[in-house]
Amino acid sequence: MAEAATMFTEPEERVALREAVKKLASKYGREFVEKQAASGGKMTEMWLEMGRNGFLGVNIPEEHGGGGGGMADLAAVLEEASAAGAPLLMMVVSPAICGSIITRCGTEEQKRRWLPGIADGTLLMAFGITEADAGSNAHQITTTATRDGDEWVLSGNKTFISGVDEAQSVLIVARTEDAKTGKLKPALFVVPTDAAGFTRQPIPMAWSAPEKQFTLFLDDVRVPADALVGDEDGGLWQLFAGLNPERIMGAALSCGMARYAVEAAVEYAKTRSVWKDQPIGAHQAIQHPLAKVKIELEQARLLWQKAAALYDAGDDFGAGEYANMAKYAGGEVACSATDAAVHTHGGNGLTVEYGLANMLIAARLGRIAPVSREMILNFVAMHTLGLPKSY
Ligand SMILES: Cc1cc2nc3c(=O)[nH]c(=O)nc-3n(C[C@H](O)[C@H](O)[C@H](O)COP(=O)(O)OP(=O)(O)OC[C@H]3O[C@@H](n4cnc5c(N)ncnc54)[C@H](O)[C@@H]3O)c2cc1C
Repeated sequence: MAEAATMFTEPEERVALREAVKKLASKYGREFVEKQAASGGKMTEMWLEMGRNGFLGVNIPEEHGGGGGGMADLAAVLEEASAAGAPLLMMVVSPAICGSIITRCGTEEQKRRWLPGIADGTLLMAFGITEADAGSNAHQITTTATRDGDEWVLSGNKTFISGVDEAQSVLIVARTEDAKTGKLKPALFVVPTDAAGFTRQPIPMAWSAPEKQFTLFLDDVRVPADALVGDEDGGLWQLFAGLNPERIMGAALSCGMARYAVEAAVEYAKTRSVWKDQPIGAHQAIQHPLAKVKIELEQARLLWQKAAALYDAGDDFGAGEYANMAKYAGGEVACSATDAAVHTHGGNGLTVEYGLANMLIAARLGRIAPVSREMILNFVAMHTLGLPKSY
């Protein structure tokens, strides 16, 4: 009995980590995020405080300035920050994608150069794979890297790349062959954001957030040979060393956001009273949607925890399957939870003051990025259920 229970509870250290993150993130909360978003500010103050406390680098090896934990720890940190109303989108990118890829595929020199800054937050690394003409089909990307002496020359463009205005560098996914179609052999390069030939253009988004999105243009950008992380012929596993963490973190962020929405809705339902002495939360029409999303939330949390456990145990294939399922479940519950929270608040749900309407858009992101709901269903149908490839 006791053994079975521990399979579904987190170790004491992670529970303590969650408590510490909750305390720090609650100092900032949704009001801080909204204020920064409205004034064009950033999350830097909170980001650096999280870094100083070791929360951003819990997954980075100790010898490189991190906490020596795993993806389950990092995802717990992001879930707590999000549940406190202060999701740090760039955690999905800098420590989770870039930190994981450099830890697993980088040389000792690359780890020494980049990991300590990623761990304490003083170095923010963005990640660029998406291209306008490739979208969900990353095999179609055309950004190319050509060897020229002891340098690489990168040409192409990327779109929807988060946080480039805050980042010192971007981990760019390119291909070393000029073929525009066919199987992707990804080659990953750390490109400084101030490199000659590298330009960015902000994408006006309907979502009000401190983190901005950019289209990037790489016009014969020259980087040294040691900007290449991993092997130029290393194959897809190098990319998935970062993409599985990205999906797990996306799921954790969505679950944190859903927790925030449910808590806000429950609090409002208990205190808002328009019929004699009863609060609106006494009605089943208000209770049932909240109870339903609570159940779906706990399902989604179990899924990301399983995915992270598999990733941390080195089971990349199992982690891939569950990271996809977790990302799907997280995206769905964040949408249902924010919708239920808006509805529970009535007209107040759509005011700027309550901040829930803007969360509807943020929650919707979890159904689209980093991999869409449909592409996950395609994956599960094909790889888990063994059905023919449909796309
Ligand atoms: C706020 C935000 C931040 C982002 N940050 C980053 C970042 O930092 N770095 C980065 O590289 N990318 C980033 N992205 C990009 C994101 O990963 C892509 O938007 C996502 O992969 C979907 O690609 P797309 O937008 O081109 O949609 P498309 O591929 O054009 O898809 C459009 C629709 O068609 C559906 N569809 C496509 N193909 C199929 C199929 N075969 N079967 C069924 N349905 C299909 C999709 O599910 C989707 O609903 C970000 C996106 C957003 C919105």
